[in-house]
Amino acid sequence: MWPVLAGVGAGTVAAGGVLLWYACSVPSSQLFGPALVRGPKEGRRVALTFDDGPTSPFTEQILGILRERSIIATFFVCGRNAERFPEVMRQIHAEGHTIGNHTYSHPYLYFQGRRKIAEEIDRTQDLIEKLTGHRPTLFRPPYGARWFGLYPVLRERGLQVVQWSDTGYDWQNKADAIVTATLRRLRPGSVILLHDGFRVPAPGTPADRFQTVQALPAILDGAVGAGFTFVSVKDFLPGS
Ligand SMILES: [Zn+2]
Repeated sequence: MWPVLAGVGAGTVAAGGVLLWYACSVPSSQLFGPALVRGPKEGRRVALTFDDGPTSPFTEQILGILRERSIIATFFVCGRNAERFPEVMRQIHAEGHTIGNHTYSHPYLYFQGRRKIAEEIDRTQDLIEKLTGHRPTLFRPPYGARWFGLYPVLRERGLQVVQWSDTGYDWQNKADAIVTATLRRLRPGSVILLHDGFRVPAPGTPADRFQTVQALPAILDGAVGAGFTFVSVKDFLPGS
């Protein structure tokens, strides 16, 4: 009997572990709280989002490519990079793009206390407001990872979680593969994840966003050619 009970116990722990992993790590999971993963299917609209910036010169290059095509995007910035590149922050805002909060130092939120999570978010909210005059209402957790305590902090601050449904895997792919991967998964309502900044590059990956910049014109032209319109991701939220 005991081995059977032990087996059931181990099974429950394993199932709990899988559930916790799913809740924390899967971008589309809604177990901790609501997250925008994709927009409405009607209207053939898609939203382009850039994480981890701003960094110079990559963010300015991306802004130039967007400007040439009159395309609006959303930038989830890290406070630490916003501090380093205040002029680029002002430029993102002046050109009509949406700015969201992506924490100050880009930590995994796993095992972080509520106070540390709040500090990461508030420091970045203050910086973005100081630089642009606007306090963000959108938050994207680093690595898409969520943890206990995050949602109460976000609720107190009126911040909504935005994840993604499509990516070019631009942290590992070369430009051609970024284009192919992004366009292959593009659907009405897609939220596309790319990066205009970086933190500490993984071994073997380039310490820049050259490949993303190279890929972007073909992604935009391919999507527009297929009849998609780009909108700010905030237009995908209920009530907007
Ligand atoms: Zn990130």
